[in-house]
Amino acid sequence: MISSIKVGDFSIQRIIEQERPFYDIKTYFPSLTDAALEENRAWLQACGAIDAAGRIVLCIQSYLVRTPHHTILVDSCVGNDKNLPHRPHWHRMQDGTYLNNLAAAGVKVEDIDYVMCTHLHLDHVGWNTRQENGRWVPTFPNARYLFSKQEYQYWEEQTRSGATTPMLDSVIPIVEAGRADLVASDHQVNDHIRFLPTPGHTPDHYAILLGRTGQDAVLTGDLMHSPLQAKYPELGMRVDFDSPLGARSRRGLLQQFCDTRTLVCPCHFPSPSVGRVSAWGDGFRFSFDQ
Ligand SMILES: [Zn+2]
Repeated sequence: MISSIKVGDFSIQRIIEQERPFYDIKTYFPSLTDAALEENRAWLQACGAIDAAGRIVLCIQSYLVRTPHHTILVDSCVGNDKNLPHRPHWHRMQDGTYLNNLAAAGVKVEDIDYVMCTHLHLDHVGWNTRQENGRWVPTFPNARYLFSKQEYQYWEEQTRSGATTPMLDSVIPIVEAGRADLVASDHQVNDHIRFLPTPGHTPDHYAILLGRTGQDAVLTGDLMHSPLQAKYPELGMRVDFDSPLGARSRRGLLQQFCDTRTLVCPCHFPSPSVGRVSAWGDGFRFSFDQ
């Protein structure tokens, strides 16, 4: 089992659903040139961010955050039974890994006080719900689920226009069950937890700052998908909502935590996923914690 990391009054633990190579990295980052890939291939492969075939390795996981008062789940992976015919590897999944890993961390679904979704893509909202007698019900029955209101409204409109989104099975049932709080992307949860707007990958993506001064740790959701985007903050990924805006958010956050002790926790970086940021040329070096 993956051990927890102590930062300030918090403990942070990764709850993995899957970790494996997915797409060719050049497809994933459409503006990545052959020359830039070759220049960086050795270290990307050494840290496990790409495999020998040049495919990006992603970890699909939640961060479990325990505070003196609350048990929090940040992002909720893909989930079981979701109808995803356009994603064959995730279509109607029947996989106990995620809930088993949560149980192994000593957490029951009833123990979760908050579920925070950094944005409303399908790999961040899936375990919000589970199927019970043909209906979608909250997986975490006692949790408040925190969604950005603006993000919610955008995806609700997309869904109404016929787009395929995870809203119908993973988000709207939470609202209908009375468990959702639609908040601003700079929402302050309490003295030790607040959101930081980091739009671009989606319309109102948020990061989460932990600690009284916001300096203990930052959970960055999908602000970046590879340490290569720390080196090149302007490198956008293929389904960014607004890539230039995402690049500004990315550079801003990396600059904010550059050469600090703050633990940076991206959602999808390969294990061990978390690390620190330092300056590297015109960009930043992401150094994984060992
Ligand atoms: Zn994601």
